[in-house]
Amino acid sequence: DSLVKLSNITKEYGTKIKTKALDKINLEILEGEFLSIIGQSGSGKSTLLNIMGTLDRPTDGELLFKGSKISRLNDDALANFRNNNLGFVFQFHHLLPELSVLENVLIPAWITFEKKPTATIIDRAKELIVLVGVENRVNNKPNELSGGQRQRVAIARSLLNNPSLVLADEPTGNLDSDASDNIYELLRTINKELNTTFIIVTHDMHIAAKADRVIEIKDGEIVRDVSNRSKAEEE
Ligand code: ADP
Ligand code: ADP
Repeated sequence: DSLVKLSNITKEYGTKIKTKALDKINLEILEGEFLSIIGQSGSGKSTLLNIMGTLDRPTDGELLFKGSKISRLNDDALANFRNNNLGFVFQFHHLLPELSVLENVLIPAWITFEKKPTATIIDRAKELIVLVGVENRVNNKPNELSGGQRQRVAIARSLLNNPSLVLADEPTGNLDSDASDNIYELLRTINKELNTTFIIVTHDMHIAAKADRVIEIKDGEIVRDVSNRSKAEEE
């Protein structure tokens, strides 16, 4: 089934001097897909990810999520939509240094409920901490963790509200190749076990090539869209 569909999405920045970051992008992403986006610096990858994540609005075009037009929602409705459906992972994990691992994973619950997380949510957070493999660090602060462990915590946090789609911008950008492989394997495990759809922007061709589908962007246009699905299914 279709999860995200972009029709003629265009994004221009600036008023006087305009930069066309995306030029009539058409793209459909299916539920359960694991997709990577590659392209040179400045090609439009982050802009595309931000628009699919509703963090930024297109200048023109339509964005559909499970068939609903979400590009027309107002800011409050969009924030609500994001909280209920999307997870985000960034290159720099954006963990809060004064909070423990468990508290960091619970951040989305505070945003949603604006009150103390329930026992059910705390159990869910603990399950996710086990899933990502940092259960021996539950009460530690981020600066007591390795880079890979911090990214694992950020991944657990992105999953708290059970999103159907996780958008990741250079999730392994700050890690050495072993840690990158481990993070990739973790995302794959989540993709298989929770059927979470992943869209990852990456410079790492080794990681990008392992995705079900690889999209290359150049000057705001999709110049390549390669499916590795059959290969993935054989494994
Ligand atoms: P990538 O993620 O592939 O490096 P970006 O999406 O960040 O590419 O940028 C695409 C183009 O849009 C670039 O020319 C960049 O300079 C421009 N751009 C990105 N963000 C802004 C912004 N906030 N204001 C103006 N121009 C921007
Ligand atoms: P992972 O493989 O779990 O994702 P990394 O590969 O990023 O973690 O770990 C990088 C290195 O940091 C490893 O050799 C790991 O043993 C070490 N390390 C583990 N825990 C800590 C810590 N609390 N502080 C500093 N380094 C750590």
